[in-house]
Amino acid sequence: MSIGSFASVGFDSKRRAVPLPRTNADMKTFTPDSSIASDVIPSANYGDRNKGRLPDMIVLHYTGMPDVEGAIAQLCTAGTDVSAHYVVLEDGRIVQCVPEAKRAWHAGVASWAGEEDINSCSIGIEIVNRGHDWGYPEFPLRQIAAVIALCRGIMLRRKVPPHRVLGHSDVAPARKKDPGEKFPWHSLANSGVGHWVQPAPIVRGETLKLGTISDDVRDLQQALAKYGYGVPVSGKYDGATMEVVAAFQRHFRPARVDGVADHSTLTTLQSLLASLAAETKAVAAQ
Ligand SMILES: [Zn+2]
Repeated sequence: MSIGSFASVGFDSKRRAVPLPRTNADMKTFTPDSSIASDVIPSANYGDRNKGRLPDMIVLHYTGMPDVEGAIAQLCTAGTDVSAHYVVLEDGRIVQCVPEAKRAWHAGVASWAGEEDINSCSIGIEIVNRGHDWGYPEFPLRQIAAVIALCRGIMLRRKVPPHRVLGHSDVAPARKKDPGEKFPWHSLANSGVGHWVQPAPIVRGETLKLGTISDDVRDLQQALAKYGYGVPVSGKYDGATMEVVAAFQRHFRPARVDGVADHSTLTTLQSLLASLAAETKAVAAQ
C-alpha cells in the first residue's frame, strides 16, 4: 500500500504508521530534487512554468484536511487541478509530488510584489495540518524541523531570498488563512528561513480600521504594497485592506489577528521594511 515502508527509513514502530496512498501506476516517477525527500508520489497536476520563469519564491501551505491520505490523494489525482511540489508529514517525512522544474498548482488566484502568476515563480510546500476548519492543531517540532531543512535546501539551490519565503495567506489574503497564526515563522527565521522581526508589543491607542479614510490609511496601504502585498492604495480602509492587514498579522504579529491596524501592527510593518532595506543593501554589496 505504501511507497517506501517506515521500517526502511528507521521510524520507531510504536509511532502510528501513516500509510501513503498508492502511486498511480501510469504516472512517471522521478528522482526527488531534495536529498531529504524520502518518497516520491507523482502528481498528475502540473504544467510548464510560464516563459521558463525560474522559481525564486517558496509558498508554504497547510493541507487543511482531516487526514493525510485524503490530502495526498487530492494533490496527486488527475482532475482535482491542485498539487504542490512537496508535502511535509507530521512525523517529518517529506514526499515530493511535482518536480521543482515544473509548475505545480498550489497558489490559485494570487499576487506578490506585482507578480500574479505565483505558481510559475514559486515552489509550493504543503504542510500536513488539519487547519482552521478541523481544530487547527499545533505544528509538531519534528515537522517544523523538516520544513526548515527542506526550505534551506531550496533557498540554496534556487537562490530564494529570505523575504520570498511566504505563506499562502500572504499571496492570497482574501481567500486563504494558511499556514495560519500558529505557524512558527520566528523559529524558521532563527534558522535563516523567511524574513521576520520581533513584533512590536500590543498597546492601547489609536487604530486604523474598516471605514477609515485618511492619509494614514494611504501610508499603510503603500507600506503593505511596498512589502509585496496586493492591496489597492486608495486611502480608504476597505474590506480588501482589512483582509491584507489580517494576513500580515497572521504572519508577522500573530498575537492578535483582527484586521485592525493598531500601533503594534504599524510599527512591526515599518521595522520589517527597514530590515528588508538593510538586507537588500547587504546583498547588493556582496
Ligand atoms: Zn494553501
